[in-house]
Amino acid sequence: MILRGARQPLQLVNVPTPQPKKGEVLIRVEACAVCRTDLHIVDGELTDPKLPLIIGHQIAGVIESSGERVGVPWLGWTDETCHYCTTGRENLCDRARFTGYTIDGGYAEYCVADPRYCHPLPDGYAFEEAAPLLCGGLIGFRALRMAGDARRIGFYGFGSSAQMVAQVAAAEGREVYAFTRDGDKSAQEFAMRMCAKWAGGSGDTPPEKLDAAIIFAPVGALVVTALRNIVKGGVVVCAGIHMSDIPSFPYELLWEERSIRSVANLTRRDGQEFLEIARKTRIVTQRTTFALEKANEALSALRSGEFVGTAVITI
Ligand SMILES: [Zn+2]
Ligand SMILES: [Zn+2]
Repeated sequence: MILRGARQPLQLVNVPTPQPKKGEVLIRVEACAVCRTDLHIVDGELTDPKLPLIIGHQIAGVIESSGERVGVPWLGWTDETCHYCTTGRENLCDRARFTGYTIDGGYAEYCVADPRYCHPLPDGYAFEEAAPLLCGGLIGFRALRMAGDARRIGFYGFGSSAQMVAQVAAAEGREVYAFTRDGDKSAQEFAMRMCAKWAGGSGDTPPEKLDAAIIFAPVGALVVTALRNIVKGGVVVCAGIHMSDIPSFPYELLWEERSIRSVANLTRRDGQEFLEIARKTRIVTQRTTFALEKANEALSALRSGEFVGTAVITI
């Protein structure tokens, strides 16, 4: 499924099987989970994709030459030499390349990848169960770590990422307070099934002040809403790659050492740590599957919030 330009539907096209260059492997794609970042690319909100492009960066598949089950995440390559790479922050690498954005991704039958950035899939997960772990799970986990030792955590937006991170948070003894679109009862019930202690609309006041909040929805106004609901010294973590503008707000909401921070990309170490947790804590996901040629329907269903949980393209 090829993207030729922003705001155009993906096109089903026959292309040659990609040829791995030196140091790369050919991967047969079994499943590719849909991420909100895919929407931001298709909608032109992320402005530097390679074109034409095969999107998709939560790839679960098999290395053709070895038969190994692997996952291919968003971080596809780094230079390993810049200031960020050499200080344990390869997620910020100046020259990083990203799967399904600057490298062809997984809305396809085959992809090539640098195996140094791939991860062995945890045993016991089918391909379509493992695929959502690779961004929603993994970058959500990085956001959870940025919340420090917060015990009560608000999740603003309860979709693919939140359903997985809520299970990790609960296993760590934390309490998750889920905020959905106002009046979205099905999303609130879904959150309660997925380990939330409380669920309500984004305009609701939680029953307790929160130690931290993670913003999964791409809505800048939620940053201000979350600041109102956190304790002194609390942090608001923005987990997405793009969001609408954050409205101005009175300094007193930030005062008393509250902070706002973003989370960008992932390191290979995040992947190793998170997939190790996924091995120990069986993460259950609610999924809606789409055939590869229905990828445009998957994207519009995500845009309009037609399903709860995660959309997965199965090949
Ligand atoms: Zn670098
Ligand atoms: Zn993603």
